[in-house]
Amino acid sequence: MLTQMTRLEERWQAYTRHPEAGVLADIVLSLHGLGEELTRLNLLRVARICEGIEALALGYMEGGAPPLSATQKQAFSRQLDTLRAAIQLFIPRPREQRQQQEDMAWAAPRRIAVFMADAAPTADILPLLDTVRQIGFEVEEASLDGMATSQRGHVAALLFPNESMPDAPLLAWVRTVRQHCPYTQLILRTPSRNMERQVALLRAGVDLLLQQDEGSEQILRLLLELTEVHEAAAYRVMVVEDSRVASTIIQRTLREHGIESEAVRDPAEVLDRLDSYQPDLVLMDMQMPKLDGIEATRVIRQQKRWRALPIVYLSGEQNIARQIEALRLGGDQFLSKPFNPIMLAAVIKTSVERYRTAQRHTQIDGLTGLLRHSVALQRLELLMEAARQQPLAVAMLDIDHFKAINDSYGHPVGDRVIMALAWLLRGKLRSTDLIARFGGEEFLIALPGADAATARAVLEQLRERFAGQLHGKNDTLLQASFSAGIAHYRPGMSVGDLIERADAALLQAKQQGRNCIVVNTVGDNPAEL
Ligand code: GH3
Ligand code: MG
Ligand code: MG
Ligand code: MG
Repeated sequence: MLTQMTRLEERWQAYTRHPEAGVLADIVLSLHGLGEELTRLNLLRVARICEGIEALALGYMEGGAPPLSATQKQAFSRQLDTLRAAIQLFIPRPREQRQQQEDMAWAAPRRIAVFMADAAPTADILPLLDTVRQIGFEVEEASLDGMATSQRGHVAALLFPNESMPDAPLLAWVRTVRQHCPYTQLILRTPSRNMERQVALLRAGVDLLLQQDEGSEQILRLLLELTEVHEAAAYRVMVVEDSRVASTIIQRTLREHGIESEAVRDPAEVLDRLDSYQPDLVLMDMQMPKLDGIEATRVIRQQKRWRALPIVYLSGEQNIARQIEALRLGGDQFLSKPFNPIMLAAVIKTSVERYRTAQRHTQIDGLTGLLRHSVALQRLELLMEAARQQPLAVAMLDIDHFKAINDSYGHPVGDRVIMALAWLLRGKLRSTDLIARFGGEEFLIALPGADAATARAVLEQLRERFAGQLHGKNDTLLQASFSAGIAHYRPGMSVGDLIERADAALLQAKQQGRNCIVVNTVGDNPAEL
């Protein structure tokens, strides 16, 4: 990311010497790419700074990129400096990285800060912070003076105001925290449902407001979501366009914005090509021979699989009535030709993001936020395809004597134990690892790049941590454990083979007395392990 930043700064230097429209367009594109990368890393505050600079640069482009005044240059350079400083805050320093690796090779660094206005916080805060620590976060109880000297890249900060604080000191307190950590997502819990006060808090710099009655579960979910990196798969667009010239121009524009595409010249082929290309969005021409764009869209919408797929018309159609009809019959947006390339890219980006978020929700288990069984199998298959270059370990986990937990403490407590394990896995494993809820209290994880020793060490640490956790409330505290079987991918194995091997090892772990890890080494050459 720093390399991207440096390239950006070099381009800016070049532009200040020779103001050429092409260089400025390059700068806009780099800012756009950097902003996406930051969003993917969930560094939303920093991404917003980046988007602000992008908008500034876009403004400069109007009127064909005229030479900038000295004040404009200064302002832009200052903004770039701010962006660099913000990015540097979040890049782990090499020494810290090494320490972390010794500690827990697999854990992503997840630092959060906690600000408490009260010296004696309410009773529920300390147990909440304990849980946050247990699932792998590094929690720093920050004081305002301390922060100034040790500004570290906290992804989020939790703010617990004093409940009886009047508005003015509360807002002043929030503003001070905001000044101390300008790039951190601020999460504040407040009892107030007062609209004006909430607006004032947001203006003072809060990013997310939590209601007092949203329990600790909600806070944990939020933290996990904020620190998870979403997949960065390139956007895939299918361009349905009968004119070769038009589709070439559209595809070039998309490529310049880092969007992959495939052109379909004959709309009759659309259904087959959708299945083979699996796009995130369709750009649809209106006037085509044989069948027009509206008809093609109607046919696509008959397929259950593609009912939610964003379809954007890109057409020279001037007739407003036809445009409205196009939207009514299944289109999502209407863009006119000739198109503004930046607008086109922005519309595609936001539509695809919204679509992907909605898709993610259908793939995720509601209780744990983990992938569902069927999606897990598809993802595992992809990981296995990539496993020619690097090792791949798969583990099947199952909570021990879970029926007894349900029977003695009730189903809701059982659910909480399942959630606790899910959160531990999400908190402790890398964002590139596959984590799925495979069945009721059964989990599948896959660790790309993990050799036998690493996989065992990672699972052992998880096992130990989970077995040490206390679940439930004061009077009914309980402990739980899990057993796991590990299998390593070898060329020629199918998804089924691999899972079967992990399952066999899990069964052995259960037979050996539970709360332990067994590696399936049947048929493996011991020298390799
Ligand atoms: P073992 O150590 O051999 O795994 O013993 P066990 O009792 O855990 O046995 P098993 O894995 O067969 O039991 C799974 C139980 O988990 C059965 C089912 O009632 C319960 N269960 C499945 N899904 C859920 C859920 O979502 N919530 C709760 N509370 N219980 C669930
Ligand atoms: Mg046409
Ligand atoms: Mg089970
Ligand atoms: Mg079980």
